[in-house]
Amino acid sequence: MLLQQQTWQEIETYLTRSNGIILPIGSTEQHGPNGLIGTDALCAEVIARGVGEAADALVGPTIGVGVAVHHMGFAGTMTVRPSTLIAIMHDYVLSLARHGFRRFFFINGHGGNIATCQAAFSEIYAEFEGAVGVRRDDELRCRLANWWDGKTMSALAKEIFGDDEGSHATASEVSVTQFAFPDNIKHAEMNPPRAPSGRFHGPADYRRRFPDGRIGSNPGLASPEKGRRFYEAAVPELVRTYTGFLGENA
Ligand SMILES: [Zn+2]
Repeated sequence: MLLQQQTWQEIETYLTRSNGIILPIGSTEQHGPNGLIGTDALCAEVIARGVGEAADALVGPTIGVGVAVHHMGFAGTMTVRPSTLIAIMHDYVLSLARHGFRRFFFINGHGGNIATCQAAFSEIYAEFEGAVGVRRDDELRCRLANWWDGKTMSALAKEIFGDDEGSHATASEVSVTQFAFPDNIKHAEMNPPRAPSGRFHGPADYRRRFPDGRIGSNPGLASPEKGRRFYEAAVPELVRTYTGFLGENA
């Protein structure tokens, strides 16, 4: 159920049975030779829609551009500053809170967003709970769920790709986009097959160390069928997390 495809009356009715909403958040950044620039936003969105359907929950608009400063050495990458992302999340959550939403479940597709999301939650709580204003006892909660995280997902990545999964432009995320967008599969030679791993600082150093954009991965092994397995594992796991989150009451 997509927020943007409902009427306001339908949302008013939804709020009589649930105060929860799912918000996909991703990034628009290079993903190596065969990975789409939208990979992180697309994976988060596709999986969030699956979770929304299975859990009969509303899914809000995707935050499609995240914190991707270190990918800026590659054409097409877009980034927002951490302070901008905090402001966006703050405004999304508090505008929905005004209508009665109180549980905000962010399904995230980008590791580089995690620290900023946690800071955004602190910012939102400080304002909503009146830490610096009028006291308010009503409660609002945010939760961040990285779709690729969790025991099931890492076991599956290990089983299917072993050490070729990598940490950026991973074989699993490229597979998920191939599953979701089979008409837009890109083919490229991976040289070397598995990209180097290691640390970096900033966009120039990143591009020097990882010239084709990948870190530690071989997304040449990606396939739509493997993507389907990740999708089908991620959705029920996230449905459980979401349902548990709604039921929390302590
Ligand atoms: Zn990614």
